[in-house]
Amino acid sequence: MADNSNSVFEMALEQLHDAAKRLELDQSTLNVLSHPEREYTVAVPVVMDDGRIEVFTGHRVQHNSARGPCKGGIRFHHDVSIDEVKALAMWMTWKCAVVNIPYGGAKGGVQVDVTNLSKEEIRRLTRRYTVGIMPIIGPHSDIPAPDVNTNSETMGWIMDTVSMFRGSTTLEIVTGKSIDLGGSLGRREATGRGVMFNTLEILKRLGKAPDHTSVAVQGFGNVGSVSADLLHREGCKIIAVSDVSGGYYNENGLPIQEMIKYCETSKNHTLEGFDGNDTQKISNEELLTANVDVLVPAALEKQITVKNAKDVKADIIVEGANGPTTPEAERILRKKGKYVVPDILANSGGVVVSYFEWVQSIQSFFWDEDEVNSNLKRVIVNSFKAVWDLAEREEIDMRNAAMMIAVNRVAKALKERGIFP
Ligand code: GLU
Repeated sequence: MADNSNSVFEMALEQLHDAAKRLELDQSTLNVLSHPEREYTVAVPVVMDDGRIEVFTGHRVQHNSARGPCKGGIRFHHDVSIDEVKALAMWMTWKCAVVNIPYGGAKGGVQVDVTNLSKEEIRRLTRRYTVGIMPIIGPHSDIPAPDVNTNSETMGWIMDTVSMFRGSTTLEIVTGKSIDLGGSLGRREATGRGVMFNTLEILKRLGKAPDHTSVAVQGFGNVGSVSADLLHREGCKIIAVSDVSGGYYNENGLPIQEMIKYCETSKNHTLEGFDGNDTQKISNEELLTANVDVLVPAALEKQITVKNAKDVKADIIVEGANGPTTPEAERILRKKGKYVVPDILANSGGVVVSYFEWVQSIQSFFWDEDEVNSNLKRVIVNSFKAVWDLAEREEIDMRNAAMMIAVNRVAKALKERGIFP
């Protein structure tokens, strides 16, 4: 179904319904979980550098707060829609639940192509969007974080904007801040580090050594580049990576550190124009179907579809992005005996360290990086084990197992709280 429609939210609903069926969840609870608690849409007028006023559209969706304050990133992208934000908010609920951190799920986004905007325009857009959603965000109700095309600088602007209105500096209103502004050590790398821990865990279960493992990574932003770097440091051979400028391939292994360095100063921070020794250009489709052991889709939703799923050669897919595999494509992968480490587990490292950052900001007591990374490892390794063991016991795939654990936790919280009034 989801492959034929453009709705990412339908895709998220299909995953929820699958898990609900296995859990024999009652219809009333399923009904509640199928509906986001709140959908908020705001106009974001921005005075552009040339004096024109452009009006962008922004959203913030809170899916469910049964287990705690809502949590989730904000993305700036030209494909942002309310449908997409609803799906991403729902996935945040399951992500926080599967790793057992005390949050519900939310997501925000502004429909904008940031490559056309100056830094000052992006700053004004961020501040105006923040004021737009200010009635519903708060350090104990809904805590934003970075996502596609937003970063620690964006979070600093959000923190400052809210603090100006409150009249006091409120570090805990966002996570993913810079270290100078009360961010957490290790937060920037956390999603990629989580992808790396998850990959090492599945390799261990399948009896494969990292130094005998080849990897392709789709996306070279915060998630893709750090995943590639850390997996490379663990001994894996990264033979293909891609970003919006296309794919880069070297069967003997790519110079990942060099590529990361290149992006620091390149236009729009992409790999466009990168010219490493023996590096070949490949298409995005070629990357997804490359002859590797592990594929890490770390870009956007709906990349592995009915069109290319049958050609995916990697035995292991570790979902660095949210929703990269459609349900229909996943059925094909499953039939072919592939392992998919689902997004809600695979990329949960970011929100786990966001939780650590929030705790540190509230306590005004900051941890050293080893403490952050070892706590992250503990959470990921334990969560992976719970998902893997359930999948084995029930003879189901890891997505279903992760969803069963997550939905069950949220459903329990919901039952204990009851429906207001
Ligand atoms: N945007 C990230 C995600 O999709 C991080 C969210 C957070 O840290 O709140 O998981």
